[in-house]
This record gives sequence, structure tokens and C-alpha cells, in this order.
Amino acid sequence: MIGRRRPIRIGLSARIFHPEPGSAGIRSRTLQVLEQSVAQWIASRNVLVLMVPSVVADGELLRSNIRLRDYAEYLDGLILQGGNDVSPQTYGEEPLRPEWTGDPVRDAYELELVHEFMEAGKPILGICRGMQLINVALGGSLYQDLPTQHPDALAHETAAYDRYAHAIEFTAGGKFSAWFGGSGGGQVVSIHHQALNRLGRGVMVEAQASDGVIEAVRWNGRSFVCGVQWHPEFHGQAAGGDLLDCAPLLDAFLGAAR
Ligand code: MN
Repeated sequence: MIGRRRPIRIGLSARIFHPEPGSAGIRSRTLQVLEQSVAQWIASRNVLVLMVPSVVADGELLRSNIRLRDYAEYLDGLILQGGNDVSPQTYGEEPLRPEWTGDPVRDAYELELVHEFMEAGKPILGICRGMQLINVALGGSLYQDLPTQHPDALAHETAAYDRYAHAIEFTAGGKFSAWFGGSGGGQVVSIHHQALNRLGRGVMVEAQASDGVIEAVRWNGRSFVCGVQWHPEFHGQAAGGDLLDCAPLLDAFLGAAR
């Protein structure tokens, strides 16, 4: 093995499905899952991808001494998957509607992950919900629902799901603009109804849609922490041929993990 570096290990936060009331079988259990295109996108660079399960201190099984800190020590970087809404309570607001209560359980788990990876100085990339979580972790807030709170915004989520894209523009002079070779922007897959509102400490806007909605951010701090509101893992698939090639973003993240 002399001269051969071990593969990079990237942790993926779990999507959490809580037990469905009245269901039997697997849906009566708590599920922690990954969406395979995220894992495939990262693994395309010969990277080991491991999902990090949440650590439940008062779980129904035996207690474990393993903490999320141990994962941050073992892994070289973290990707926060998309998924359920961030709970408004996580950024100090009450939900404007009951259906926007989000998932405070997943918030707590991912906030701890972000804290531990930042503490360890290891890179973090947030996708969609993951970018929102990063902003909240740094003290920022979200729009709970774009169509309600920002009625002039263009569509950011449609019934077409991963077949819907809109344009984004990189901030001139920003890191993204440099990574993407001064391309200016491109078309991105958009599946979100929440969006960044007040920016967290040190959070820099790296891309926006034409309506001003924030589409990418970077933490101006001592380690690599970036987020995109779009879904790079859905680009290059059946969604269409004119989507932004997100390889430069993956390369920047993996370069920081190396
Ligand atoms: Mn969008």
C-alpha cells in the first residue's frame, strides 16, 4: 500500500422517515435512508460514501459510547442530503401553518453533525435542505414558504419534481464564479418551497435566481462550508442536457477533503 493513498471517506447525513401512524411493517419503524443519486454523484470520483446514522442516547437498544464527534473524526467530509423542511422552531419562529412544522428531530441531528465537522475543520456541502440547515446553524433564518412570503418569486418547485429547472447567476468575484470558470451561471434543478431569509454569521451569497432567491452560499470561515439550493445529483441524468455541470463544485469539496 506504500505510495497509495486511501480513498476519501465522505459521510452522508440520513434522511429520516418517522413511523407512519396506523401503518404496519417497515413503515411502522423509524427509517434512516439515502437517496441513491446523491451517493452515486459523490462515488463517481472513487470516494467511499458512508451514511451517518443519528445517535440516539436514550434509544431502545443498549447505550453506545459512539457519538457524532467520532464520525467527524473518522470521515474526511460531510454532505447534507435534501429532504423534509427545516422546522421554523429551529430558527426561533413558530410555523405559520401546521404543515410547515418540518422535522426538528432531523434538525437536531444535522446541527450536531455540522457543529462537529466544523469543529474538526472538515468540509461540509449542503444540498437543498442542507444549505438551509447550514444557514440556520450559523444563526440565519428561512422563508417558511416562498409562494406565501415572497409572492413575486418565480416557481422553485413544481409537479415536474426533478424535471424542473430555472436559471441561476453566480455572484461576480465569488468563489463559485471562479470554480465554474467564469461561466456566469446556468440552469439548475429546483425542488424547494423554503429559502434563505436572514443570512447567518459569515454566510456569503454565491448565487441567486433572477428573483433574488439565494441559490448558493459559502461560509467565510476557517473551513470549507458550502451549500446549494439546487440538486446537483439530478443534473446529467434524464432531466435534460442543458443543466449546469456541477463537477467543479464536487471537485472543490473533495479537494478540501483530501
Ligand atoms: Mn430554486
